[in-house]
Amino acid sequence: MEKTQKSTKRLATAKELRQIVADFYLEGHQAKQAGKPIGWMPPMNGLIEIFYAMDLMPAFPENWSPVCAAFGLNDKNFQTAEEMGFSRDLCGYMRNNVGYIYGMMGTAGVPLGGLPEPDMVFLPGGGCVPTMKNFQYIARRFPEAKVFKADLPQVPIENIQRYHIDYAISEINRIIAFLTEVTGRKLDYDRLKEAVRLSDQACALWDEIMAYRRYKPTPLSAAEIGLMFVMVTRQGTQIAVDYLTRVRDEVRERAEREIGVIADEKIRLYWDNIPLWYNLGLFNYFERFGGVVVAETYSAAWSIRLDVDKPIEALAMKSLMSYPMVSCVSMKRRKEMVLRACRDYSIDGAILHSNKSCLPITLGQMDIERALQEELGISSVIIEADHMDPRNFSIAQFEERVNPFMEMLLARTSPTSR
Ligand code: SF4
Repeated sequence: MEKTQKSTKRLATAKELRQIVADFYLEGHQAKQAGKPIGWMPPMNGLIEIFYAMDLMPAFPENWSPVCAAFGLNDKNFQTAEEMGFSRDLCGYMRNNVGYIYGMMGTAGVPLGGLPEPDMVFLPGGGCVPTMKNFQYIARRFPEAKVFKADLPQVPIENIQRYHIDYAISEINRIIAFLTEVTGRKLDYDRLKEAVRLSDQACALWDEIMAYRRYKPTPLSAAEIGLMFVMVTRQGTQIAVDYLTRVRDEVRERAEREIGVIADEKIRLYWDNIPLWYNLGLFNYFERFGGVVVAETYSAAWSIRLDVDKPIEALAMKSLMSYPMVSCVSMKRRKEMVLRACRDYSIDGAILHSNKSCLPITLGQMDIERALQEELGISSVIIEADHMDPRNFSIAQFEERVNPFMEMLLARTSPTSR
């Protein structure tokens, strides 16, 4: 196995993704040239729909990090960040972004032309500390950009009260007022409603696609996780809905015709935490044992339905819920989510990625491991790695832990052991 490798994809629609990614970055550069304001923002909040409704161009530095990993730019970006004094233990997204904006950004030959320079920067109020620091550095690097600092509370989903929602609504209205003042553009409420409707439709399609993964054999594995690019960058547009419809149709057909990811699916796996963006091929590694990763934590971030009739409130709810959906804002909720997924997707074993540079999602894995064993009888293996930094990942150690784990699962699931 290589330290960095691309995944093998089975969906024909997955091959369209390269063009969708290229189009998004091209549109950003064209927008810049045409004088359309660009806003840099974290993903998973209610801003994207407002941007598309106001004909503004969003850009997502965190999403640029996996793109950098795919193009092998992360090493250079880490080097720049470390020369600035950033520790290797800090979030890989943050180190990659800081290294990029203070290093190669604007130089010739950056794939896809890189990120277009921001006219506005949105500092999140919720989310994790590294995200906030990331955007502080971005704001410092682009002093001409107008900065909006959000002040959203970070509340476990089960504790969200009416006053949290009202406060989040006031923050969404404050964002709209800021955008109106900075860009001189007025928000058309009907266009916002339409963007929210399209966003909700994309979420519904996402859920439908994920539900087909429950079939045996599963028609879709984590090796195709790159599909999530449209959820990050194109929510609120017809582009996301059209693409996900094509994906849904293909996945449905494969499920109904019992076309699995591999010919002989023997072990169904759950992946906890962020993938290794520089090595999505790792998801194919399990296939030599008849294993397929049929569900993962990260994809749950997009399972949020929006109330189309109350678009501002829907975006407020989305902003409150997205991040706690996948992180450890509430351990109780996260544990429940993993257990439910393992039940729903008939999981045989779980791979818990202990992510060196992302504590917010890694915290609590020991509890999850125990709960999986005690409540569902599902065994787990913890692997140490990093979502962005290949230096924090050892193939030998990975194989040493995963191979016996897979052999054990194989022995358990083989007909003679029943
Ligand atoms: S949740 Fe983890 S990966 Fe995401 S920005 Fe925070 S520390 Fe980084």
